Amino acid sequence: MPATTLFISDLHLCGARPAITGLFLDFLRHRARRADALYILGDLFEYWIGDEAVGQPEFRPMVQGMRELTAAGTPVYVMHGNRDFLMADGFEKATGCRLLADPARVDLHGTPTLLMHGDSLCTDDVEYMAFRAQVRNPAWQREFLARPVAERDRIVRDFREISKTSTASKKPEIMDVNQQAVEAMMREHGVQRLIHGHTHRPQEHVFTLDGRPARRMVLGDWYEQGSVLSVDARGWVLEGLPLEKTAKTKKMKVKS
Ligand code: MN
Repeated sequence: MPATTLFISDLHLCGARPAITGLFLDFLRHRARRADALYILGDLFEYWIGDEAVGQPEFRPMVQGMRELTAAGTPVYVMHGNRDFLMADGFEKATGCRLLADPARVDLHGTPTLLMHGDSLCTDDVEYMAFRAQVRNPAWQREFLARPVAERDRIVRDFREISKTSTASKKPEIMDVNQQAVEAMMREHGVQRLIHGHTHRPQEHVFTLDGRPARRMVLGDWYEQGSVLSVDARGWVLEGLPLEKTAKTKKMKVKS
């Protein structure tokens, strides 16, 4: 069997979405076990108040599932998203996953490829970029993590409300990546291929970068279904992972 590397992002896992958690755990137990590596490119979790979360009942099944996968021999690399950027050593210890810098340049079956979450490419969203600079500041993070868990929970809930309101009022094109930012980043790292998530607009973009063909693959979110990119020496394939309920509905339709 050819070596296959899997990429997922934007699962936004939390206690409120048990069907998606179930789909993720099933993915870890089967599909991911046969992969030579699994990369999770950010927003694995809907929120992360700090590594105390690994022990919270809400997140324990996901942590345990990742622990079982890494113990079975599949390396798992996890990048921070704009929701779960406080994952640190405690997360690595509990899951056996390795945290990955954003951006990360990897050799993917012979092709140099840049991996990112994608939020830092949305440079037209000036308001978000200012928020990002604030919460990614080490001093801000130290101060936040020094607060009691209950207070952090409250602050994160407030952030989510503010984010919902401001996202609803923004034009869709503002919240997509900026093509100049994409090209500058790829040029800086000497790659013709980029994989990222964040925008929830799963699609392959083919364009020309300095006279050579370039490709950008955008991973999909896990809201209505899962989304996974498989990469091997022959190329890449982006596919949806149906929820069990969807599969049953389809079967019933065939019968009638
Ligand atoms: Mn995101």
